[in-house]
Amino acid sequence: MEEFIGRGSETLVVGGGRSGLAAANLALELGARVSVVDDDPEAFSRTEWASFQRHGGRILSDRAIGPWIRNSSSHVIMSPGVPPLLWSGEVVAPPLPHVRGELEWAASLWPHPVIAIAGTNGKSTTTALVGHLLKVAGLSPFIGGNFGTPLSEGVRQVRKARAKGDPSPYDVGVIEVSSFQTESMKAFSPTLYLLLNITPDHLDRYGDYGLYREAKLKAVSLFGDGTTVIWNGDQEDYRNGRMRGAAGAAFVTRSEQGRDSFGEVPFARILPDGLSISGIPGVPEEILVSTRTFRLAGGGNQENLAFSVLAVILFLLRTGRPVSFPLLEQGIASFTGLPHRMERIGEVRGVTFVNDSKATNVGAVEAALAGLPDSDHPTTVLILGGRDKGGSYLPLVPGIRRHVKEVVVLGEAREKIRRELSPHVHVEEASDFYEAVARAFSVADPGETVLLSPACSSYDMFHGYEERGERFREAVKRLGEQFGEKEGNGHETRR
Ligand code: ADP
Repeated sequence: MEEFIGRGSETLVVGGGRSGLAAANLALELGARVSVVDDDPEAFSRTEWASFQRHGGRILSDRAIGPWIRNSSSHVIMSPGVPPLLWSGEVVAPPLPHVRGELEWAASLWPHPVIAIAGTNGKSTTTALVGHLLKVAGLSPFIGGNFGTPLSEGVRQVRKARAKGDPSPYDVGVIEVSSFQTESMKAFSPTLYLLLNITPDHLDRYGDYGLYREAKLKAVSLFGDGTTVIWNGDQEDYRNGRMRGAAGAAFVTRSEQGRDSFGEVPFARILPDGLSISGIPGVPEEILVSTRTFRLAGGGNQENLAFSVLAVILFLLRTGRPVSFPLLEQGIASFTGLPHRMERIGEVRGVTFVNDSKATNVGAVEAALAGLPDSDHPTTVLILGGRDKGGSYLPLVPGIRRHVKEVVVLGEAREKIRRELSPHVHVEEASDFYEAVARAFSVADPGETVLLSPACSSYDMFHGYEERGERFREAVKRLGEQFGEKEGNGHETRR
């Protein structure tokens, strides 16, 4: 790929968050003249921006950016999550020739192979899991992208090591990509691309599911022969045609049809206690990998594990490395998951609390419910609500019927959720977050579960899903102090 930003290039970075900071510093190190803009001046309160300015970088107000936008001999790097810029009625966004997304630009400078992870849900968990399995296998992965450390920062670390004459600290990049990033890509060639699932999300931005799905699928149509795409073989709505046309394809499935459905390609079939892996080039027989020791429950985690294991096997073979199944199984057993995703955070009076605050769309909650153990009556109290994203909550009904004894709703979306779900389950409204948790606790019996899996974004009440999850943790602690310690003294009752 041609060098997009070189010595003396006039460069504008849009967005002053972590990716913007890493991209701006990287561009400075490449010798560019760099300016950054963000319409929230708070973005520049981080001390790192002072150092950026000391090294010659400039911070602009959004009124001053016209010259960069109009002048196509300058370059614009867009942070992920920043919507296209509107400047005097013109849209400034990739694929304009002088505009690139941060991730695509960083990927063009990244010297190692990439395993990219995309999809509506499970990206962060799968990114962390693939990285973990590779580490246990003896590799040195950079793990980041849309989640954790921006890729521009990884590129900086490699350049820094090399400038000192040291080898790169990494040999592979495991990169989470969002559809905001993939929709603008022109050239991106990961070794493996894991497309975990596509279910409705961000309809507030895309308007309808079809457009969202197209954005997610767009990257795939750009890949050449060097990329193998791992598809979710059970998602009928996009699998036909599209998947078969892809240069290199592999599948994850729960279906027993296996090879009859997918042909002579690699696929991983999810079994109750393991994975059956077939079609691996050069390996005539089926490989069985035990997943009995995997600690993550529910939330689509079996699928995430199947994608991860298949990806790691294919990657090791593609790069001429041996596959050690004992090490793979050791990695499966030692992965502890990420906070705020089906995270069991405690128990008060026999009631278990599960924090799935990261479930910001209906698909994630469907997966959370589908992963709950079956019993003869519903044993979960589900907390839903927050800022609505424009879809329907009705897909939750089958899971709710099986598992949920009551729904507690809160936040901006509470009216809409109550309207849609109350014909199917008892719905209570709460006016604040603590009240919602306390109400859920009061209806759950010992042995039952309170699940925060809200199907909405948190921005009506919090700065993000992490803050919502932390508040849940605090609320559970408070309930524990109020009710837990006195357990057994015979004087306190729960309700
Ligand atoms: P992402 O980075 O794509 O948002 P996360 O790993 O952070 O994915 O998980 C987001 C939410 O989706 C969590 O609520 C989690 O429990 C749920 N989830 C994780 N994996 C899957 C999956 N394969 N299918 C559906 N939901 C999932």
